[in-house]
Amino acid sequence: MHARHTCDVLVIGGGVIGLVTAWRAAQRGLRVAVADPAPGRGAAQVAAGMLAAVTELHYGEQTLLALNLASARRYPAFTAELEEASGVETGYRACGTLAVALDADDREHLRELHDLQRRSGLDSQWLSGRECRRLEPMLAPGVRGGLRVDGDHQTDPRRLSRALLTACERAGVVFHRHEAVRALLAGDRAAGAELADGTRLAAGQTVLAAGSLSGRLAGLPEEVLPPVRPVKGQVLRLRVPDAYRPFLSRTVRAVVRGGPVYLVPRENGELVVGATSEELGWDTTVTAGGVYELLRDAHELVPGITELPLVETLAGLRPGSPDNAPLLGPTALPGLLVATGHHRNGVLLTPVTGDVMAEVLTTGRLPEEARPFSPRRFVPALQEQPA
Ligand SMILES: Cc1cc2nc3c(=O)[nH]c(=O)nc-3n(C[C@H](O)[C@H](O)[C@H](O)COP(=O)(O)OP(=O)(O)OC[C@H]3O[C@@H](n4cnc5c(N)ncnc54)[C@H](O)[C@@H]3O)c2cc1C
Repeated sequence: MHARHTCDVLVIGGGVIGLVTAWRAAQRGLRVAVADPAPGRGAAQVAAGMLAAVTELHYGEQTLLALNLASARRYPAFTAELEEASGVETGYRACGTLAVALDADDREHLRELHDLQRRSGLDSQWLSGRECRRLEPMLAPGVRGGLRVDGDHQTDPRRLSRALLTACERAGVVFHRHEAVRALLAGDRAAGAELADGTRLAAGQTVLAAGSLSGRLAGLPEEVLPPVRPVKGQVLRLRVPDAYRPFLSRTVRAVVRGGPVYLVPRENGELVVGATSEELGWDTTVTAGGVYELLRDAHELVPGITELPLVETLAGLRPGSPDNAPLLGPTALPGLLVATGHHRNGVLLTPVTGDVMAEVLTTGRLPEEARPFSPRRFVPALQEQPA
């Protein structure tokens, strides 16, 4: 007979999204447990940590833009509070971003993005190729122009995860280092989960925050499972030796041959080069082709990278959703909430997700800013009903 534990909130999944949900809920006085065989790992171990609300703007994603901007605005205060609560520095860096064009097609693409940014009221400045190189002398001589976006910053997702884990522990969150294998139901309510070691965790509310695996938990009706899928991304980590610093002073990105490439310089000398975007199920193999493409494109952008030591190659899975936006809040099954589908913006959206989830867990109301992201938008019969 395995122990039965009880809590107010069980969070399934301890990536950045599950952890921030747990931390914020515990701060509001709820008794919170997290189930995850490896909390603090997940996609954030791979992610570049760009907080790129403006440069990641895509056509048709203006609703998501509002949430991205809301989260970006919270980052400085969120970072200060988290670092104070955990004693862990997160590597938040208000460095800005430069998006550049390498040929006439890229330039056209960037002009269109600039147009969209301006129509959306965003702060973004067009620079000539020469002005770009004056800002970042390591850029290739052929750079044709670029966008200077001083508001798109970065954080270090690995340190962010560590800080969230410590903050959760200090706030009294209980960790069960096992996989949740099945949701528990009591009548027509979600009532917790059974773990791989047989432990049954009973909970008043259950939050599914298992990243790209969120749609696979057994024991739940099909229609409440979030429609998320894994989107593989490969990244490289290089090291900038002291003698080469400052190599880049801000994030530099471009679209090369139709694919995005970015270089994110950390204060500690790490340079993250990313990322591929591949729909290959749950495969996380680092491939020669992926590494080749990243190096080839990054080298076109910043030729000097070939001098730098390559210290790590890694692949991770973004939790993609049908409209590239997250799913936040209550599902059609009473007692079951989701916080997933953050796709390429999960690190950026960490602060706002924590606030939204804590609010709905304590009051039952989904805050206004999160209404467009209710999981009910994917269940046609429920779209008109209040969340
Ligand atoms: C290459 C790459 C680059 C990225 N770059 C950026 C970027 O620059 N900026 C940005 O904002 N975002 C970026 N992202 C996206 C960001 O990393 C993700 O959106 C975010 O980390 C998702 O967090 P999550 O907690 O939802 O999921 P995950 O990080 O996937 O965590 C899910 C957790 O759930 C656990 N789990 C799964 N199933 C179960 C189960 N049955 N029981 C218990 N636990 C379970 C897993 O062990 C894991 O710890 C990037 C992602 C990748 C892959």
